[in-house]
Amino acid sequence: MNYLGAHVSAAGGVDQAVKRAVEIGADAFALFTKNQRQWRAKPLDEATIEAFRAACTEHGFGPGQILPHDSYLINLGHPEAEGLTKSRTAFLEECRRCELLGLSLLNFHPGSHLRKISEGDCLARIAESINGALAETAGVTAVIENTAGQGSNLGWRFEHLAEIIDQVDDKSRVGVCLDTCHAFAAGYDLRTAEACTTTLDEFDRVVGFRYLRGMHLNDAKSEFGSRVDRHHSLGQGNIGLDAFTTLMRDTRINGIPMILETIDPSIWADEIAWLREQQAT
Ligand SMILES: [Zn+2]
Ligand SMILES: [Zn+2]
Repeated sequence: MNYLGAHVSAAGGVDQAVKRAVEIGADAFALFTKNQRQWRAKPLDEATIEAFRAACTEHGFGPGQILPHDSYLINLGHPEAEGLTKSRTAFLEECRRCELLGLSLLNFHPGSHLRKISEGDCLARIAESINGALAETAGVTAVIENTAGQGSNLGWRFEHLAEIIDQVDDKSRVGVCLDTCHAFAAGYDLRTAEACTTTLDEFDRVVGFRYLRGMHLNDAKSEFGSRVDRHHSLGQGNIGLDAFTTLMRDTRINGIPMILETIDPSIWADEIAWLREQQAT
């Protein structure tokens, strides 16, 4: 059994995200704990923290069912000192916000070399950034998301994820979030049950299911192997429904939050209900 939900809006305060998750019948959710397009955020106040914790308790959301996502501005593999320092400071801040909210997972995109350093150097910087943040916090696991490989973003090959994990000191606090749209755009086929299982087998061989801490369930507007990141509603894109049925029935994926980042929030409740049916049969 996995937990199902969507990346809901935290407009009006993080506690509002919990209500929105309940409204769509979710037992998992993702959120930004601050504006994802800005560097600075006002600190979380005591009342908001309390309201969030109370709402989670009331509706039965444990920390393993909530997958916060960090700011899109952060680049933990930044080739330049100033950008790297700014990103590391912001990432630590994101970890601290999770700690205050009682959250144990933090989902982020690994980083980009901006064509100024090698892939290997960039992956080493990302691992060092993670080591720094983990050393200064407690209880938060760094959950690296695979990417579509747009521009100079790393993390689109499973090998990139494995190379980062290999250089993280505390293996108990590093994990992976697998995004289906990103994997498909990066050249991992998911279009049939067989293709989907082959991709999962490769993930297991290169990274290992023990590191899988969450998934993003998205169909793709982008073409297979296009390295372009465009999400679509389930069954309406180039991946198709078979992949999602297969994922819901693969017993290697268990006990993790599976989050929709599909483009039409008005059908999230239906998408969640459909995914639950796949799991049950
Ligand atoms: Zn993401
Ligand atoms: Zn994603």
